[in-house]
Amino acid sequence: MSFISDRLVCFGWHDFFAASFHQYSDQGLIAGRVALEYSRVYRVYTAHSEISAELAGRLRHEAASRTDLPAVGDWVALRLIEPEGKGLIQAVLPRRTQVTRKTKGRRSDEQIIGANIDTIFIVTSLNQDFSLRRIERYLAVAWESGALPVIILSKSDLCPDVEMKIARTQEVSFGTPIHSISAIRGDGLGELQQYFEPGKTVALIGSSGVGKSTLINRLIGEDRLAVKEIRGHDDQGKHTTRHRELILLPDGGLMLDTPGMRELQLWDSEDGIETVFDDIDKLSSRCYFKDCRHRSEPDCAVRNALREGTLDPGRFENYLKLQRELAYLARRKDAFAERAERNRWKKLTRLAKELSRDKRR
Ligand code: GDP
Ligand code: ZN
Repeated sequence: MSFISDRLVCFGWHDFFAASFHQYSDQGLIAGRVALEYSRVYRVYTAHSEISAELAGRLRHEAASRTDLPAVGDWVALRLIEPEGKGLIQAVLPRRTQVTRKTKGRRSDEQIIGANIDTIFIVTSLNQDFSLRRIERYLAVAWESGALPVIILSKSDLCPDVEMKIARTQEVSFGTPIHSISAIRGDGLGELQQYFEPGKTVALIGSSGVGKSTLINRLIGEDRLAVKEIRGHDDQGKHTTRHRELILLPDGGLMLDTPGMRELQLWDSEDGIETVFDDIDKLSSRCYFKDCRHRSEPDCAVRNALREGTLDPGRFENYLKLQRELAYLARRKDAFAERAERNRWKKLTRLAKELSRDKRR
């Protein structure tokens, strides 16, 4: 197919996308991959260059939900507008994988925070922040997305018992690859190279402070923090010159690093929720019913505080939102564990059959 250049393959083009792009190439559209979205203006990598693009009116109007609109990592079909060299995005090609954020459990609220990611690095540090529960949550997110998870245990230089922590991680991760690294010393970084094949997209998730930026800087080989500062001014002219959320690495491979991926860290705040919302928990203990949901129950201390103005309604909303997210995640985790257990049984049954067959021989 003539419209496919090596450049597109480097950006992750794949037979999967070619199949759905065919109808658009017949209409004279070109293919491109979204590298950045900034208030409905997109930076898109195409076969020849990198261009600015906007949504075609039809796509904007016909999108039933936010998930129908392009996200970073998406492949899109565009019409080039001469002579400006800008693009109009006509369609989003079906996604191979997607990381979504569902804040309220309704489809229309779903938000895609990264598309067509091949590998998700789950980064968790080996020092006091090490948490198996957190790793389990991130694993659930990765499995759900369709991307392959890889567990990165960071800051190995701060940990005296790396082997033991790796062994404990293995117990909850069902054969997921595990690597321990020290971004500061450079230990273990070589092992990560295998995930950066040309055209393969890697994204990182993990709590704040575990060393994601440090690792990304090491892998990219430039200081991206400077880039972030430029972006802080929200000066479009400036950041379109350098900042990307989908970055081509020097040795091939792509790194997807969006604010949304970073904000996934909100999801793992279970440990923090009690201390952060300590005041609400104290109030709850004074509600008449032990299992008060603070809706319409009589003698609700939380409702009273809201009425009296001693509890900020916005704060209470946040509390409820976090509770909902955590409940959602707990349900997901159960489903995931169940599936893993089923697979394990299938494997064991197969193994048992094979063994008994071998014996009979
Ligand atoms: P992020 O929030 O996940 O992006 O984390 P950062 O990359 O900003 O790192 C948070 C802190 O951990 C910084 O002070 C880093 O210098 C430190 N850090 C990152 N990687 C390592 C490491 O391998 N070893 C040690 N000892 N500290 C690290
Ligand atoms: Zn109550």
